[in-house]
Amino acid sequence: MAAGNQWNHVPGKLNPADKGTRGLTADQLASDSVWWSGPEFLVPQHNEWPSRQITVPKELPGMVKRAQVMAFAVQQVSAEVFRLHPDNYSSWKRLIRLMAWCYRFINRCRRRHASTRGDPEAASTAVDSVELKSEELQRTECHWYAIAQAESYPAPYWQLTSGKSLAVNDPLLRLNPVLDKDYPCVLRVGGRLKTASHLPVHTRHPIILPQHHRITQLIVDAEDRKCDHSVGPNHLLANLMLGFWITRGKVVTRSHCAHCVLCKKKWATVALQQIAPLPLFRTAPPYRAFSRVGVDYAGPFRTKQGRGKTQLKRYLCVFSCLQS
Ligand SMILES: [Zn+2]
Repeated sequence: MAAGNQWNHVPGKLNPADKGTRGLTADQLASDSVWWSGPEFLVPQHNEWPSRQITVPKELPGMVKRAQVMAFAVQQVSAEVFRLHPDNYSSWKRLIRLMAWCYRFINRCRRRHASTRGDPEAASTAVDSVELKSEELQRTECHWYAIAQAESYPAPYWQLTSGKSLAVNDPLLRLNPVLDKDYPCVLRVGGRLKTASHLPVHTRHPIILPQHHRITQLIVDAEDRKCDHSVGPNHLLANLMLGFWITRGKVVTRSHCAHCVLCKKKWATVALQQIAPLPLFRTAPPYRAFSRVGVDYAGPFRTKQGRGKTQLKRYLCVFSCLQS
């Protein structure tokens, strides 16, 4: 392919191709040197040809530049979203245990780092047990409760955790939310049972769970599995309310049971079979009572006679009328 600087321009008067298209007579064409030999400037060597720079303006008249807008949407996604997002799990228990193991690993790394720095307080010499402790599981659960609350109620959550009071029109205000004493990142229902010290804390102040969050779905599913899918939505909600306050909880449990395959199987109505017609001997005359009977026989039943010293066998015979 020829580059741009390899091209030259031949004026129209010197262009032999034009001669053939302009209607010349045979005599004129026979005596035309340009037609037979080409333009004169082509006779010398290539390097002696006249050079004529053709400059093409960058902006031609009437040219409209088309603006191109390119937009890039960059979403900052942490590694936790990929690996430990609740959407990737179908079991609450599995999610909690996996997260608890991750926390243990992080804490172990921190302790090791602190020991290399020579910080005796931070570098605890405690050795982790083989199995996860209940405190570790509880702390991990609270971590997810806090995430669910912060994602679903961002404004009231940050107001409460920063020590501010809720807005007057905030929907959470009617629950009088308070912060957990042990895990101050978790919101609990304030309620009216503050003085009922005989009740456990999670009953007096249940944890607030949002209706549409994945964590809520996993917790409801875990309770449903615990009940072996054999309780209805109302019983399921009653069990959950011992520790949680799910906003619009009845809708949540109903929706869960409606979509749970095992619940559907267990609560399915038994198919009713067509009962066969009565046999002829039950519908044909005579129509007197007990003209035809069915007999049921049962026994023996031991009965006490007299003062209870002797026992006798008794038998039961039931005659059922087949006509009436
Ligand atoms: Zn179920």
